[in-house]
Amino acid sequence: MTDIDTVGRQVALNLASLMAKVEYEFNRHEPCLVCTEKYMHHIDGLPCERDDARKKIVRHNRWKKNILKD
Ligand SMILES: [Zn+2]
Repeated sequence: MTDIDTVGRQVALNLASLMAKVEYEFNRHEPCLVCTEKYMHHIDGLPCERDDARKKIVRHNRWKKNILKD
């Protein structure tokens, strides 16, 4: 039996991920649906794509963007 809620959730995450790429410059402060961190804090700048595979969260120093912290 298919879990409709789980499927719908994954569709929503896939769509959010797609839109994040399309509107990359405008969604830096959008909260991720999975971990609630802003898109900009994700390792690749895009929201998590799965509930069971959260991305690494990095906090950028505004003036030293090469410094990454856990
Ligand atoms: Zn996330």
